Amino acid sequence: MERVILTGDRPTGRLHVGHYVGSLKRRVELQNSGAYNKIFIMIADAQALTDNADHPEKVRQNIIEVALDYLACGLDPAMSVLFVQSHISELCELSFYYMNLVTVSRLQRNPTVKSEIQMRNFGESIPVGFFTYPISQAADITAFKATTVPVGEDQLPMLEQTKEIVRKFNSVYGEVLVEPEILLPDNKACLRLPGIDGKSKMSKSLNNCIYLSDTPEEIKQKVMSMFTDPNHLRVDDPGTVKGNPVFTYLDAFCSNEHFQHHLLEYKNLDELKEHYSRGGLGDMKVKKFLNAVLQEELEPIRIRRREFEKDIPEVYNILQKGSCIAKEAAANTLSEVKRAMKINYFEDKELIINCMRP
Ligand code: ATP
Ligand code: MG
Repeated sequence: MERVILTGDRPTGRLHVGHYVGSLKRRVELQNSGAYNKIFIMIADAQALTDNADHPEKVRQNIIEVALDYLACGLDPAMSVLFVQSHISELCELSFYYMNLVTVSRLQRNPTVKSEIQMRNFGESIPVGFFTYPISQAADITAFKATTVPVGEDQLPMLEQTKEIVRKFNSVYGEVLVEPEILLPDNKACLRLPGIDGKSKMSKSLNNCIYLSDTPEEIKQKVMSMFTDPNHLRVDDPGTVKGNPVFTYLDAFCSNEHFQHHLLEYKNLDELKEHYSRGGLGDMKVKKFLNAVLQEELEPIRIRRREFEKDIPEVYNILQKGSCIAKEAAANTLSEVKRAMKINYFEDKELIINCMRP
């Protein structure tokens, strides 16, 4: 069987370091491994509109920002199809048919949708499109017959929902759709990177992000303002590492080489954590180190982004070409789906002949 990747991001803002460690970095590694037959990377503008219907300009402007972040991180249009969701109308058709295979109560139980509804303060006014976005995500994944979906932990319930739809579809209509596997980051700290405010998830909607395109000064200012252990008041006090976002970021980003480059007194992160827990290590010193690590990691990405920013029409061109390729792939799956569902009346010669009346 072909190995196919599908994943993507909502164009609700520039991409942040949570996206990077949660999914983007892995995508680039998978792309460069050569182990996949096809790689589809989607800018999910239609999904972004489900909770931004009143802000179309925001979605419109962020298409190019997300595309620039992709290219800056090393996604290569020669190897990966970069495309825009709304261009693929076949996805809406698939969603419409899948809606019949999912109950309202099943959607209501989806924990990610539940917490996102709360976070957005929708109250009783939940847009139907937002409520049903797990179904549209199933359409995105299955349209490309994706076998592998590299995403952060918050996407687990979406993948479960997709698998259920695939099983239900295949059992009712015949084996057409492919059941995908989620690919979560191996590093626990990267599953759901917290925000700089210590909130459980760095998220564009929560305004608690370090963006891949932030300037060195912005990165430094954000790191220095980060939430740490509130009980670590004096340098000599013992500090808590667990749940301390500064250490979670170090878990996500730092390697032993970073200590050789920026903090020779310690061999590795375990030694630094041990000193912090014991007492005698100030937050400022740890934050300075984290800043140095992030600066080292993000500088090459920022420099590559600047290069791509010089030719914006070419970036749109990449997206347009990718969208045409993606559309063709989705159209093939849609016709298989319609054939399986027996709604392909006009191409079914037998149906037409058998219906002939004497
Ligand atoms: P929004 O607030 O608009 O939902 P977001 O910041 O949650 O934006 P998405 O576009 O919804 O970003 O997510 C894109 C991908 O990045 C998904 O695979 C998601 O799991 C991953 N991701 C997003 N935030 C994080 C995070 N803080 N840690 C790890 N992975 C993340
Ligand atoms: Mg999200």
